[in-house]
Amino acid sequence: MQTFFTPEQLKNPDVAESEKILRTCVHCGFCTATCPTYVLLGDELDSPRGRIYLIKDMLENGKPASEEVVKHVDRCLSCLSCMSTCPSGVNYMHLVDHARKHIEETYQRPADDKVMRAVLSKVLPNPGLFRLSLMLAGLGRFAAPLFDRIPARFAKRLAAMLRMAPGTIPTRSAYDRAMTVPAIGAKKGRVAVMRGCAQPVLRPGINEAAMRLLNRHGIEVVFAANEGCCGALVHHMGKSDASHAQARRNIDAWIAEMDGQGLDAILITASGCGTTVKDYGHMFRNEPEYAAKAARVSALTRDISEYVQTLGLPGPAVSSRLVVAYHSACSMQHGQQIKTTAQTLLKAAGFVVKDVPEGHLCCGSAGIYNILQPEIAGQLKARKVANIEKLRPQIIATGNIGCMMQIGSATGIPIVHTVELLDWASGGPVPDALAGTDLASAMEPVRAAAE
Ligand code: SF4
Ligand code: SF4
Repeated sequence: MQTFFTPEQLKNPDVAESEKILRTCVHCGFCTATCPTYVLLGDELDSPRGRIYLIKDMLENGKPASEEVVKHVDRCLSCLSCMSTCPSGVNYMHLVDHARKHIEETYQRPADDKVMRAVLSKVLPNPGLFRLSLMLAGLGRFAAPLFDRIPARFAKRLAAMLRMAPGTIPTRSAYDRAMTVPAIGAKKGRVAVMRGCAQPVLRPGINEAAMRLLNRHGIEVVFAANEGCCGALVHHMGKSDASHAQARRNIDAWIAEMDGQGLDAILITASGCGTTVKDYGHMFRNEPEYAAKAARVSALTRDISEYVQTLGLPGPAVSSRLVVAYHSACSMQHGQQIKTTAQTLLKAAGFVVKDVPEGHLCCGSAGIYNILQPEIAGQLKARKVANIEKLRPQIIATGNIGCMMQIGSATGIPIVHTVELLDWASGGPVPDALAGTDLASAMEPVRAAAE
């Protein structure tokens, strides 16, 4: 694609990078077929190619963002399905990140939108505030249908938020604090597991399962002091000062461990966060004090499934034959390009794994997209759940908390994290979501055969 930036404009490193990305697009349109918003809405401006044109025009003309650009960029899920499809290697992720930053800097959002974004960006990355807001939302869940009837965007978003609130909030994990958990038996490695922000509040069992699985296989686990939200949430809102501040805190926390007792890897159990932490090197490329440290952190970061695969888990003596529909989160398959690792691990652990039809399409979670764009997110959720239920699975597994909450809110099939199943199959307890169900005893014959 030809571009027309002036030499003055290209002195801005963000513009210079976006110019390079724009030039790689040959406007072939292959990406449109796999873009969830284009599939649903059929509007070229809600396709990757359409958005690329809008962003190009906005940046090239040095214009403040217009209402039209904001509408179509806001509708983008950042699912990155377009990056998996694109034959020219267009880095849409970095382009849309720049567009969102430009929008944040130049566009005056309506007051309701501004307030909603400000509240979400303060509450969600803070586990204490998030827990409190979930309790309040749980109490107000009955009001969701009432808000739905009010024809105002603010009301629809509130309704979506209330509907997402879980009925009960798990008690805080004893491991949700800075600590080191030693390996069982001979120590073979030492890793940091990121605690994160929303996940330990919603599903504390995930990091516990990861810790147990790693410990059992000789790996010492560090939950680093002062680590917190990865910054993805505010990064996708274009709030780069806030996202960089959150990322810097994590970089400092992990660098202290790397330069102290050393780390073999930084493991992330939410693939949405993993995509962002793996991108810290890029985020800080123009910040001399942090560029090298951020690049070191990104280079050491792995999804939990990637690392577990290197451990060579022993297979079960007999298979549990539990049928698992594996939902690959967009951040896993498109963001991190991890396509088959979890499925391979689950099969090796004795599960019957089925891939979900239209698996490349987003479930509509996408961070806080399901709150900000509830109509599109609702349609994507219904489509995803229908595709999953066609498989008649006993369990749904995935590697991202956002997808777990989104899909779990629309189906009665229990949904668990991949690592919870791997932990269970190799000696750990029944995952919380399966406790008290008929499935809870499925591992007993496997264990009996192994003994
Ligand atoms: S597939 Fe890639 S090169 Fe083709 S229009 Fe989409 S982004 Fe551009
Ligand atoms: S990130 Fe997803 S929603 Fe956005 S343009 Fe690409 S495919 Fe479409």
